[in-house]
Amino acid sequence: MSGEFNLIDKYFVGRQNQRKDVYLAAGDDCALVKAPANVQIAISTDTLVAGTHFLTDANPAWVAHKALASNISDLAAMGATPAWVSFALTMPEPDEAWLAPFCDAFFELANYFGIQLIGGDTTKGPLSLTLTVQGFVPEGKALTRCGAKVGDWVYVTGNLGDAKAGLDVILDDALRTRVAAESLEKAHYLSTPRVLVGQALIGLASSAIDISDGLISDVKHILKRSEVGISLDVSQLPISSELVQFLDDKVSAQQYALSSGEEYELCFTVPEHNRGSLQSALSHVGCKFTCIGQIRPQGTFELHDNGQKLDWELSGFDHFN
Ligand code: ADP
Ligand code: MG
Repeated sequence: MSGEFNLIDKYFVGRQNQRKDVYLAAGDDCALVKAPANVQIAISTDTLVAGTHFLTDANPAWVAHKALASNISDLAAMGATPAWVSFALTMPEPDEAWLAPFCDAFFELANYFGIQLIGGDTTKGPLSLTLTVQGFVPEGKALTRCGAKVGDWVYVTGNLGDAKAGLDVILDDALRTRVAAESLEKAHYLSTPRVLVGQALIGLASSAIDISDGLISDVKHILKRSEVGISLDVSQLPISSELVQFLDDKVSAQQYALSSGEEYELCFTVPEHNRGSLQSALSHVGCKFTCIGQIRPQGTFELHDNGQKLDWELSGFDHFN
């Protein structure tokens, strides 16, 4: 892109404190970094395309937050500690009115989590953002999707459903008059990656995943990889008062909680014998967490409401629409 180097220097270089494990960040052909002993490096890449993952006229600061938070959430789901990020930016023209607020928000979140931008690429084309995050996890201790066992308890962090209601607002201006519309729209963009929860779950949780496609869709990844089933109690789903006010119906709110994607909350399983340690470990973190069900033998997929079996068509919750 013409003026690429000016843009990179102006917006991406020298915005953060240098981490001790970064020997060379943006500016040369490669970044040079060094991981501490006895860790594995967790790496994840995600792309956000304008028009697909966010509207082209969306607030650039919110887009920056969403792009980085969704990537850091993948690290959180493995119990990893964020360290480095690379950023490939494609944009139609150098657009400083967009870049300035984007970068301010990007570095604010990056600094909060101590993750350093170590390089990237800047090209001309339709607006799209690709981030690769890297983090450290104690060797052999990463949380994965494959350790859930029959009898383990199923938990989620935070509240569920707000991001889907926020998307409704983003896509339909008529909904802006509803109660809580503005705060739900904000919730869609401004999730908090559960990094401290992920770290605290190491050695306690038998499996974990972050909710990017919707609880039902994502929990199915755990079930498949762990070769187990599940029973969920919808009356236990953590739902915000804003969501109930916005939808004005408890059952709809529960169904939103089951299907809402881009929540970036964690869903995890914990064996009975670790439940006590879980309470004390997470009380230090200060993040809400709720038990919503239990792992059952493979082939079982049940929804209950206070002990009453529900016959909701589960396939309807499989895709975020
Ligand atoms: P090369 O042609 O060797 O790939 P580039 O011109 O793409 O180099 O990039 C020059 C330097 O600027 C590299 O160190 C690269 O990591 C960094 N850089 C380019 N784009 C970005 C970006 N969007 N964010 C952070 N660093 C970037
Ligand atoms: Mg390049």
